[in-house]
Amino acid sequence: MAYRNEISYEWERAQHLRDLRAGRMSRDELCDADFLLRAAAEHHGVDMHKSCPICEHDLRLTRWVYGDSLGRRAGSARSEQEIADLVAEGLEFTVHAVEVCPACRWNHLLRAATVYSLG
Ligand SMILES: [Zn+2]
Repeated sequence: MAYRNEISYEWERAQHLRDLRAGRMSRDELCDADFLLRAAAEHHGVDMHKSCPICEHDLRLTRWVYGDSLGRRAGSARSEQEIADLVAEGLEFTVHAVEVCPACRWNHLLRAATVYSLG
């Protein structure tokens, strides 16, 4: 399994935090994880060993899969093992890594990449 076309959104994350501190964005705008995202963080997410930039609660990392090859599975949250299984089927698709704070609902896309099989 390998990744290509990786795009990092760390700059946007830092910019949003700067905007929050400067009062250009509100906490409600940034801490808006919906029910689905929070449920995914709880059931499919993994502990990031990293503190929330807003409230310092432990962040959870979720992975979302997108792509025509996935059919009805597109747009769902998946564990690392499930992603490996999909790749083993010979599918190629995009994975979005999103950090979520279950406490204050902060969430941010960290990176997106195409995943594919080397085999
Ligand atoms: Zn938080």
